[in-house]
Formats: sequence, structure tokens, C-alpha cells
Amino acid sequence: MSGTPEVILTKKDFTSDQTVRWCPGCGDYSVLKAVQSALPRVGKKKEDVVFISGIGCAARFPYYIESFGFHSIHGRAPAVALGTKSANPNLSVWVASGDGDAMAIGGNHFIHACRRNIDVNLLLFNNEIYGLTKGQYSPTSQLGIRTKSSPQGTIDSPFYPGELAVGAGVSFFARVPDKDSKYMEDLFVEAELHRGLSLIEILQNCPIFNDAIHDDVTLKENAANHQIRLVHGKPMLFGEKMDKGLRLNGFELEIVTLGENGVSLADILIHDAENQNPAIHQMLIRMRFPQFPVAMGIIRRVKRDTYDGLMTAQIESEVKKKKYASLDDMFNSGDTWIIN
Ligand code: SF4
Repeated sequence: MSGTPEVILTKKDFTSDQTVRWCPGCGDYSVLKAVQSALPRVGKKKEDVVFISGIGCAARFPYYIESFGFHSIHGRAPAVALGTKSANPNLSVWVASGDGDAMAIGGNHFIHACRRNIDVNLLLFNNEIYGLTKGQYSPTSQLGIRTKSSPQGTIDSPFYPGELAVGAGVSFFARVPDKDSKYMEDLFVEAELHRGLSLIEILQNCPIFNDAIHDDVTLKENAANHQIRLVHGKPMLFGEKMDKGLRLNGFELEIVTLGENGVSLADILIHDAENQNPAIHQMLIRMRFPQFPVAMGIIRRVKRDTYDGLMTAQIESEVKKKKYASLDDMFNSGDTWIIN
């Protein structure tokens, strides 16, 4: 699926001349490649694309995309994005943020961006650690993990970013592994086509300070059995033979195998990403390996008014009611006087 291109561009057109400065092997490289490949499919001109970031390793993103960009302050990228999109609704606005930037320092901005449903794509690089400041635990770090700031192991329970976002009213939530660039590219295009806040949680590896934290799920050899790639309108199946599935047992999800204990395709849940009721979406978001496969793809995509859309409608309605259509009209209307 792709937007209607206003102009034909290529990945190279969105590649800046800046030297990419991430550690060798960092998962950010494949995200960058996927974004640069997705942007030509979005169909916007380079000057109509803006990348905004806060602080962290992922916050270097705007330098590497040949478009407008703003490396702003810690946790405040969603606020800058809201202003940018509201001032110029024609722009394609993207935020690059890490789990520390979005979930801790910018937690408040994050939840209000979800609540307001601003039409922005927010890429959440979740490596479950503070990489730029050299390895302190973050709000998504697993309970008990030993880091430089938790030598005895953390005693904080982590956030599930999707659960927090859906609770705050986000209209689009997807999850992707950093090991599959093409899958990311397709989902980034879907995110841009959605009107409202599109949050994409990227399970990103930080080989320096939290290496292999997602490997059980994201490595190619683990993908079939440890991920479930959800597709709207399709049964929730996974496994090398696609013979395992999810069904509801009371108020809980359970894994079943086709052909065992009388289980047939008719028992398997059909994924409805567009259901306004978030109950099953939240259950899918909370699934964790090894008890469950980790849910990937578009988990929630619902229609809701956007903040920037409603704001534009209010301005247009007020302009229609006003005696003057613009400031120039008002200044030149004759109601002027000289102050001596
Ligand atoms: Fe990537 Fe980690 Fe290096 Fe940051 S510290 S650039 S997240 S590998």
C-alpha cells in the first residue's frame, strides 16, 4: 500500500550527506534504511517532510534524513511536532524518540500527544536502556535487570509502551522488530497513511549496553515461533507451519494448535485492528515471550478526530465569521489612528 505520489523520489533522495554516528551493529541503522525507503512511497516532497527528535541515540535521526528537521530538547519532541503540524497541516511530521526520552523525561508529553491524537508518526526506539548516557535502566527495562544504575537489579516494573499509549487514547499502534527492514518499511507507510497519532514501537537492539535483549523474539530464526504477525481481518496464527493460534478462554487469551483437541480454524480469533473497544488490543500488547509469541504489526488502528484537524476547522470557521479575512485587511480598513 502506498500514498499517491506528488513526485517520484527514491531512497537516495532522502539520504543526507551527514556521516551516520551510531555504534557498529546498532539497530538504528536498519530503522534508518527502512524510513529512507518508506518516504518515497509516502509521496511527499522532501520539503514537506519534517523529522523532530528529543535527546538520545535515536535523536540523531533528523541529521540523516534529507528533509527538514529539528533536534529539540529532552522529551519535548511531541510538543514541537504538535506545533509544527498545527501550523502547517500539509506536512508529514515524524518524531524519533527512545524509551527514556518518550517514557520518562517526556512521559507527560507522550501521553498528551496520544490523547490529542495529533497527526504525527512517532517512532519509539525501544532498546530498554539509556544508551547515550552509557547504560542506565529505563522505564521499559525488565524487572530485575542489572545495569549501571541498578547494580542489585531493578525494582521497577516496566511500562508496556503500547498499553500506556492505548490507555491514553492513541489511534494507531504497531510493533516491529529491528531485524526486518522490509516489514518496518511497509508499516511506516501504513503509519503515514493513518490520520492521527501513529505510534510504532521498534524492538531495537543496543549491542553496547543491552545486547540481545530482544533476540529471543527478533532474530530471524526465532521469528516464526516467537512472533505473531497480526493482519487486520485475518486469523491470529503463527508458527513455522502456521498451525498455532490464539483464542479466547473466558477473559484470557490462550495458545491452541490446529487439529489438536478438536481445534479448527473457526476457533481462532480474527484480528480486528479497527475495533474501538481496546480490550483485546491490550491483551495482545501485553503478550510476552516465552508464555506467548510477541504481537507484531498493526495492533490498533481506529478512526478519531485529530487535534490539528479540529484546530484548522475552528480557525477556518472563525475566519468566515470575521469582518476581516486577514491582518492586512484589518490594518488597511481605515480604522487607524496616529498616537502623538
Ligand atoms: Fe545504538 Fe546503543 Fe550505541 Fe546508542 S549506545 S548508538 S543505542 S548501540
